[in-house]
Amino acid sequence: MVLTRPPARRPRSAATWIALGVLAPVGMLLVSALMLLDLRHDAWDRAEQTSKNLLQVIERDITRNAEIIDLSLQAVVDNLRTPGLDAANPEMRQRVLFDRAATARDMGVMLVIDERGDIAADSGAVPPRKGNYLDRDYFRVHRERADLGLHVGRPIVSRLTGERVLPFSRRIDKPDGSFGGVALGTLKLSYFSRLFDQLGVGPGGAINLFLRDGTRLMRHPYAEADVGASIAGSPTFARFVAARGGTFVGASVRDGVERHHAFTQVGDLPLVLDVALATADIEAGWRAKAAVIGAVLLALCGLTVSLALLFGRELRRRAAVQAELARQSRTDALTGLANRRRFEEVFGKAWEGARRTGKPLSLLLVDVDHFKRWNDRYGHAVGDEVLKGLARCLSGSVRRPDDIAARVGGEEFAILLPDTDEDGALRVAGKMHEAVAALAVPSAGAGAVTVSVGLAVGPGTSGTAEALYRQADAALYEAKEGGRNRTCRAGRSRGTGARAAALRVVNA
Ligand code: GH3
Ligand code: MG
Ligand code: MG
Repeated sequence: MVLTRPPARRPRSAATWIALGVLAPVGMLLVSALMLLDLRHDAWDRAEQTSKNLLQVIERDITRNAEIIDLSLQAVVDNLRTPGLDAANPEMRQRVLFDRAATARDMGVMLVIDERGDIAADSGAVPPRKGNYLDRDYFRVHRERADLGLHVGRPIVSRLTGERVLPFSRRIDKPDGSFGGVALGTLKLSYFSRLFDQLGVGPGGAINLFLRDGTRLMRHPYAEADVGASIAGSPTFARFVAARGGTFVGASVRDGVERHHAFTQVGDLPLVLDVALATADIEAGWRAKAAVIGAVLLALCGLTVSLALLFGRELRRRAAVQAELARQSRTDALTGLANRRRFEEVFGKAWEGARRTGKPLSLLLVDVDHFKRWNDRYGHAVGDEVLKGLARCLSGSVRRPDDIAARVGGEEFAILLPDTDEDGALRVAGKMHEAVAALAVPSAGAGAVTVSVGLAVGPGTSGTAEALYRQADAALYEAKEGGRNRTCRAGRSRGTGARAAALRVVNA
């Protein structure tokens, strides 16, 4: 008889697997989010570097051209002091005056304007073209201020060529220091638009050139209405003039688009250059990447979580099936009582417990009397019903949680009563005889079924659990021999007191 078996290894719980299956994707998402943030940071770094490079290229080009014009103007002012110039003929005079004046595609006109505002010399024509510039801002400014140096005025439409130009001018002093007129050189605004158009700033980007008073000289992409418009009062412009250069992100007053602005003052000129890349353009590449990575990742995480949940559910289902199988493997199918295997397990443990504590352990073996006849007379099905009824009687007779009633053979049962002495066990046996006597059996009525019981109490002198079982079995045999429907205690031979030892329960 196998009395104990090692407990099965507990499998990892479904909850653990589900937690792992959810935590792993969450970790993956976290790492990926950090990676995407880093990529976004890189995109912004690249944009900032691009803006700064563009700013540098444009500033250098404008500064160089402005320098060329200024040097030409200074040369004209110097050349006016050439002795004998007034006496020279118009061609010679023009050649002397403008000998160092640069000519380039983007240069407009170069003029000497006298103190009355009339053209006194013209780099483009001999004799000079006719025109009066008394009303021009640059003329008035130079007349009023002797210390101005190079002046860059607001964009104007040239009266000689009809083109939009930016006027550069220097004051001409008479030998006595009084106002003697203005040397004027113009730069075509088309120069700026051509320069800006060569540079790529993305679909939403813009390049702006402002005077320091807020007047927009040029914008890329070009729109007629932008040239000459003022943004002097806007918060964006306030930031442009607050420092020589810098970067910031802000929404445009012109079209509301949010852009990253990199701006600088152009050399020593009263010009502010602004390279503005649209935030949407800067992040466009990153967004596309993030969308793909994010979508793939979410799909993978969703899949992982779903699989973890499915796996967890499957584990739970398996655990439930195993628990049910374990329960069934310890339960008798017909009566629902513990089966022989379960009984052996419990008996082994109870025996060890009794040995350890010294407390009594009572074992009752129960066998149905003349059961063969039941089957023969009423059939096997009725026999089964009797067994079920008996099982109810047996389990109804034991009350304590550690007590157990089991079906150990065809029509043989065992009742194990830990911490119960002989008197207690006899009381239980008596109760059981009463219950069996009251059992109503189909076709035969109440009182037709009786049982014989063998009782053994350990541990006492019985050395092993098997020995105790054998003693109970011997007592059962004695009960049968003694006339059945009774309980016999082990250790009392029939000849020396079978009557006294046998507990006869009379049917009610
Ligand atoms: P006694 O024990 O009083 O000496 O007589 P008995 O007729 O009970 O004798 P025995 O123990 O030798 O016979 C047991 C009978 O129990 C044999 C079999 O017909 C019947 N039996 C065993 N298991 C089952 C079962 O699961 N269902 C039914 N209906 N009968 C069973
Ligand atoms: Mg039997
Ligand atoms: Mg029997």
